Amino acid sequence: MLKKIPLHWQILAGMVAGLLLGFIADRLGAQQFVKHWVKPFGTIFMNLLKMIAVPLIIVSLVKGVADLKDLSRLSQMGGQSLVLYLITTAVAVVIGLGIVNLVKPGAGVRPATREKLLGAYADEAKGRIAAAKSEQDKGPLQPLVDIVPDNVFAATTDNRRMLQVIFFALLVGIGLILIAEEQAKPVKDVFDGLNEVILKLVDLVMLAAPVGVLALLAALMTEAPSADILLSLVWYALCVLAGLVLLIFAFYPALVWLFTGKSYRFFLRGILPAQLVAFSTSSSAATLPVTMERVQEHLGVHEEVAGFVLPIGATMNMDGTALYQGVAAVFIAQVLGLTLDLGAQLSILLTATLASIGAAAVPSAGLIVLVIVLGAAGIPQEGLALIFAVDRPLDMCRTVANVTSDACVAMLVAQNLDLLGEPHERRLDDVYPR
Ligand code: ASP
Repeated sequence: MLKKIPLHWQILAGMVAGLLLGFIADRLGAQQFVKHWVKPFGTIFMNLLKMIAVPLIIVSLVKGVADLKDLSRLSQMGGQSLVLYLITTAVAVVIGLGIVNLVKPGAGVRPATREKLLGAYADEAKGRIAAAKSEQDKGPLQPLVDIVPDNVFAATTDNRRMLQVIFFALLVGIGLILIAEEQAKPVKDVFDGLNEVILKLVDLVMLAAPVGVLALLAALMTEAPSADILLSLVWYALCVLAGLVLLIFAFYPALVWLFTGKSYRFFLRGILPAQLVAFSTSSSAATLPVTMERVQEHLGVHEEVAGFVLPIGATMNMDGTALYQGVAAVFIAQVLGLTLDLGAQLSILLTATLASIGAAAVPSAGLIVLVIVLGAAGIPQEGLALIFAVDRPLDMCRTVANVTSDACVAMLVAQNLDLLGEPHERRLDDVYPR
């Protein structure tokens, strides 16, 4: 019976049920029940996805690079991807800055509300500022140093060190291209087989998606801050949301249509389940297995491109996060009564674009790098406390944009390299109908 309902409807039903359950439990004072008896199922679902993410990155990148067979193709794909990541991210920040300067959500926040927010979230803000500061103290070349692991096995045990894992997998793939074909073949065969196994595991994990998202959203509802705090930030939240909606429903589908000729419906329908998982988990890294499967099998992107563009995109290409940083920085300045000249706004554009690359693909990572953006624009970093209350719901939405952007870039690169084919939904079709 359940097999007949398409996956995205099952997940949506789980989300609605989770929101309802959380709302009712909150009203009945049953938060502890949700915490102990419902939330663990959400945590298990997240862990299952994260468990697959690291092996998936290694296997798909090694296989993707090795399949390219020559290094010039790799640099072509790498170059195109990086340019597209940067362009889409910069466009996202420009959209965010445009909206927040037009609407001026910070102008409407009363001084009493400002003091209340600054007081209520001061400790949380301090924690994030300290985390960002310890990163900055390490020097300008530290991000480069951080990419190279001193122990690859240690790197695979920490989901925040994804870039190190990616670096290692890229090198192994390059090594496979450079050695003799007959020596490379058995190794590649193993990676081919492993790739199939891991994608099958994604199918199995996705069977639990409706229950997983139900549990995650129910728990979130019981942990949400009070309604009056949320209301005082509603204009700010709406500005971020408007920007994200523009990106997700206009900018990416338009790019895909313009450059690949694939329709609006084809693109959004293909990526929808990954968007729903991104929304529920707030983590591009946890969503990566689902994104990978959807992009390959429902959007027709060849494995070589998906295996390369998506893992790197999940860690580096964060348009939603960058847009949010632009809006948040200007909003904080507005609430604090500061005027930002063109120079300051341009520095926000630059640092938000670059800082989003450094954000980890995990919940709330955007908040930490926002500290750097605030510093660059001369905005007091303690102002971070102003936006804490609504960060989680916005994190959920910006993660959707992050994942959609990765899918869009993958399609454009695939089209450019003539590696965009027809969808072949064999793996999911075993489990779910279209
Ligand atoms: N949660 C986001 C992601 O994983 C990052 C962030 O904006 O905090 O894509």
